[in-house]
Amino acid sequence: MNGRRTYLDHNATSPLRPEARAAAVSALDAIAGNPSSVHDEGRRARAIVETAREQVASLVNARPLEVVFTSGATEANAWVLGGGWNTIFRGGFEHDSVLAPAAASGARMIDVPVGTDGVARVETIAQHVFTGSGDFGRSLVALQLANNETGVIQPVAETAAFAVAHGLSCHTDAVQAAGRIRIDFNELGVDTLSLSAHKLGGLSGMGALIIRDGTRLASFLVGGGQERRRRAGTENVIGIAAFGAAAVAATRDVATAGRLSALRGRLERGVAAITPTAIIVGAEAPRLPNTSSVALPGGAAETLVIKFDLAGIAVSAGAACSSGKVGVSHVLTAMGLDQDIARGAIRVSLGWNTSEADVDAFLTAWHEMSMARVRAVA
Ligand code: PLP
Repeated sequence: MNGRRTYLDHNATSPLRPEARAAAVSALDAIAGNPSSVHDEGRRARAIVETAREQVASLVNARPLEVVFTSGATEANAWVLGGGWNTIFRGGFEHDSVLAPAAASGARMIDVPVGTDGVARVETIAQHVFTGSGDFGRSLVALQLANNETGVIQPVAETAAFAVAHGLSCHTDAVQAAGRIRIDFNELGVDTLSLSAHKLGGLSGMGALIIRDGTRLASFLVGGGQERRRRAGTENVIGIAAFGAAAVAATRDVATAGRLSALRGRLERGVAAITPTAIIVGAEAPRLPNTSSVALPGGAAETLVIKFDLAGIAVSAGAACSSGKVGVSHVLTAMGLDQDIARGAIRVSLGWNTSEADVDAFLTAWHEMSMARVRAVA
């Protein structure tokens, strides 16, 4: 290892962008007051918050008044999923921050199946609504915009159109899609959409729930009247300032997403040339330009991740997980992939600071590992 690290785990956390860092530092220097105070110090803090609100709104083409700042996407998802639903439609491929509050909510749970291509079979929602038993009043469809492990993009606009036409609410977790593909809150037609700042190159512990004006959703926290009485607590002005700047930079990057898909193409072609048996999970479906789920049948993803780490390269085995547990990804399991494939899948995710040299460093390490495997078998 030459001391230089190659970071290819942007779906876990994207490193802080220089623009976000500068905004955080400048907010640190500038704020001396509470954004709710009427004096000059308070008004200056308020101006930082409201500028960032406009910047985050414009990332997803929402209105600033629809943006509610939260402590992250986990909070935003928990807020919506805990909204007192009778029935929740959700797929087993959703992030744990959707699955866990859904399970804890006491609502009737209806599974939206997913194909081996990673795309949700959303027609089952209509089948349930038209033929299923029970009351579909106050029901929610939760469908992520793109998957954090495979990058597969889900048919959210079509699903939301059906849901809204039949009186169901629709939520999308857009954490991984934001800054990687164009998002238009109005075109998607969902009622709520969650975002996370650290996936965009902002600070962690910061996110937003975009709530369509007029949507019925109880306040997440009551107390002070912050965030138009929807989420009480003095705002995290530093995190919000960095989120706004990251959103501006990410909006710009969406326009040049071809750069990322070219790098990802280089990576996947290189992998196929070195190990023709490798499988790119979800390759046949529409995908984010930055994510590659590379599975080596018979391999052990955790071992590969450690070997890459020792070679100076950060990738991950499925979703990053705080408990450090070793297990097969619930996303790949929900897709019905062979356990032999699912166990050997690593996630490589590129981002704003990824270069060709990073991709080549990955391929060099992949080549060395595959040669070592060949030697071990011989
Ligand atoms: N949703 C998805 C799809 C994610 O990938 C993540 C983070 O891993 C989250 C939600 C949670 O975001 P946060 O870390 O801001 O709570």
